Amino acid sequence: MLKMLVQIKDRLRYTKAHKKTLRKLRPFPGGTWDKKSPQIKDLKSHIKKILLFNQGEKCAYCSQPFNITSGAEIEHIAPKGGAVYPRHTEFTFTAHNLVLACHLCNSPVKKGRKDTIISKNINYRNCTFNIVHPYFDNVYDHYKLTLDDTLSGIIYKPITNKAKNTIDIFDLNNEAHVTARGEQSVAKQLKTHDVSKSRELLLAAIQDYK
Ligand SMILES: [Zn+2]
Repeated sequence: MLKMLVQIKDRLRYTKAHKKTLRKLRPFPGGTWDKKSPQIKDLKSHIKKILLFNQGEKCAYCSQPFNITSGAEIEHIAPKGGAVYPRHTEFTFTAHNLVLACHLCNSPVKKGRKDTIISKNINYRNCTFNIVHPYFDNVYDHYKLTLDDTLSGIIYKPITNKAKNTIDIFDLNNEAHVTARGEQSVAKQLKTHDVSKSRELLLAAIQDYK
């Protein structure tokens, strides 16, 4: 069951042309991300393509394959805010601040209000985060997966406070998440199920029945 969790090994890398565009866009005033210019569109499509590959087409928070609960959305781990209420805008295009998340994880109301940085540093790597960071933390140090009480799905059991907070912000144990996880696990088992053995068992059962 543990293999269900996504651990991202590689970060996003920009091409030379993208780096040049980013130099021009610096210092990324609030709202830069939402501009409709061809350069921003091109950057976003590059980010999405690379992250889809790096994450094995699964959500960075709930580990669900994309297109089961929703498509992939680019998510800023430290919120960038918008033109009116900018937040950590300097990290708008920081590779370690970008992941793909599903709509279930990207949409909860709490997420928009909460900050994920508790101690900020100009160097992103030296910031302290209050959530399980998809690049810097080992997911297996923070969660255990377990069946929920009704045995209808799989829930995230927190081992640490960071995990507790992440589950809360992204609503990782809501019904939609729990059910989707359970279904994915069953589908996986069916795929790897030894068909020849189940045939034997079925034949034996039929014999008993006769
Ligand atoms: Zn998700």
